[in-house]
Amino acid sequence: MRVGPMRVGIVGAGMAGLSCADALAAAGHQPTLFDKGRGPGGRMSTRRVELDGRTLTFDHGAQYMTARDPAFVARVGAWEITGVAARWPAAGPDAWVGVPGMSAPVRALAAAHDVRWTTRIEALRRKPTGWTLEGTDDDPFDAVVVALPAEQAAPLLARHHPAFAATAAASRTLPCWTVMAAFAEPLPGVPDTIKDAGPIGWAARDGAKPGRAGTESWVIQAAPDWSQAYLEEAPDTVASALFALFAQHLGTDLPEPVHLMAHRWRFARSRPPADAPGALWDAEARLGVCGDWLLAPPVEAAWLSGQKLVTLIAP
Ligand SMILES: Cc1cc2nc3c(=O)[nH]c(=O)nc-3n(C[C@H](O)[C@H](O)[C@H](O)COP(=O)(O)OP(=O)(O)OC[C@H]3O[C@@H](n4cnc5c(N)ncnc54)[C@H](O)[C@@H]3O)c2cc1C
Repeated sequence: MRVGPMRVGIVGAGMAGLSCADALAAAGHQPTLFDKGRGPGGRMSTRRVELDGRTLTFDHGAQYMTARDPAFVARVGAWEITGVAARWPAAGPDAWVGVPGMSAPVRALAAAHDVRWTTRIEALRRKPTGWTLEGTDDDPFDAVVVALPAEQAAPLLARHHPAFAATAAASRTLPCWTVMAAFAEPLPGVPDTIKDAGPIGWAARDGAKPGRAGTESWVIQAAPDWSQAYLEEAPDTVASALFALFAQHLGTDLPEPVHLMAHRWRFARSRPPADAPGALWDAEARLGVCGDWLLAPPVEAAWLSGQKLVTLIAP
């Protein structure tokens, strides 16, 4: 059935929500996005730290993105041409990073849409005139899309769609403690990436990614089990503990970092089942859901999920 142009409110302006907005706009709809964050990124955020007149940046969420599906390969290729993505061979032959930070592709997508930052949506309300979003005073929307991690989507969906809420509630997103460390001098003899080293799930010399300033800045991410065990610890405690484990893994005393900080991602990597639907759409309620947890853990899946939702809306 052909769907006429709709005003669509999208909750969450990460990769999934923005991908959905792109596809909706291409199909003639009018998306408006709402995000509680101060700026673009979501789980692809880049943290900036000012230190002694220098700016350090850390990709403290997603480290890189793979591009395998032909549609996403084309999307990433277009970002490469506009200078917001580049290959990062250190992470694999099909690995890409945003340039100058991982948030750059999300930022580029957001620039094409009406995005309201620092706007947390507390609830959805369904009225005869359409959907309103608690936390904004916008006119009712014809349709609403929830593009959040499963655990954050479930409570918004519960009142309106028990089946979608149950799917979200059954999905688990693993936590990740991330430590950002910077050194005055390069660490000698340390490779740019370290993977699956016990409690250290991943560590990377962030400053060595393409298009970075070349600072000796490191992102050290704990494995999911370790992150879970230390989930409620204070960030300073975690920063010291993970830094010590990093040094232990390298088998050396590390110099004192000039910057050391931990960030807790309560919801980092999704764990969807193999038969995950890709996206959810209820045509009668005009309620849609997208996000990595409906397809697969990586960034690529978040983008594909946003695209898939629009194929369900206007088949
Ligand atoms: C530590 C970490 C490491 C990762 N490593 C990789 C990797 O190396 N490679 C890879 O491919 N993927 C990685 N990922 C996963 C990848 O980042 C995600 O799959 C992808 O970014 C998810 O996009 P999304 O749009 O579905 O969700 P998100 O990026 O989480 O977007 C959801 C948005 O909703 C907003 N929001 C939440 N609640 C509300 C609300 N109530 N109202 C309004 N806005 C709200 C948030 O601010 C956020 O911007 C990693 C993630 C983390 C956290």
